[in-house]
Amino acid sequence: MGKYYILPQLPYNYGDLSPYMSEEQLRVHHTIHHQAYVNGANEILEMLEKARKENAELDIKAALKALSWNVGGHLLHSIFWRNLAPPGKGGGTPGGKLADLLASEFRSFERFKKEFTQAAVSVEGSGWAALTLCSQTGRPMIMQIEKHNANVFPSFPILMVLDVFEHAYYIDYKNKRGAFVEAFWNIVNWDEVAKRLEELIK
Ligand code: MN
Repeated sequence: MGKYYILPQLPYNYGDLSPYMSEEQLRVHHTIHHQAYVNGANEILEMLEKARKENAELDIKAALKALSWNVGGHLLHSIFWRNLAPPGKGGGTPGGKLADLLASEFRSFERFKKEFTQAAVSVEGSGWAALTLCSQTGRPMIMQIEKHNANVFPSFPILMVLDVFEHAYYIDYKNKRGAFVEAFWNIVNWDEVAKRLEELIK
């Protein structure tokens, strides 16, 4: 028996991201949706263990597809909560090496913000926008993830993500994804994004 996934605690209270993300929206997202990916991933791990123990046949294709969906969902949400912060602490613009890196690739922070916003708004169906770092060139790249696990650049570490599944914003913004993405910029935890960058380039 190996280890299982657990729902991480948020580094702030449910009401702390208001008015950009309401207490109800955040609570439902964390305790219902994120929890479902944790449970889903663990159920598949248990199913695999059971099949191996009994040396039983299993539909490996279906199992791996479901595992990718659930583990992807869990890991992305775990990053997402940490790259958010209450207004005042979050928002504004990054500084230091992160600011330099974004300016070197995108010419300006405003240009990065525009491209990331467009990536988030235009995800087909459910998905994520992610800021990643190419593991070969060290260049920052925007990754537009469909679902939790398609269009991914394999092995690129993630610096920041934005969830644009409808479940992330429907309570606060109905079907207005663009309004949610605009609100996101007020609660980005740039210190956390910079910390993730520091860990990669040290
Ligand atoms: Mn979500």
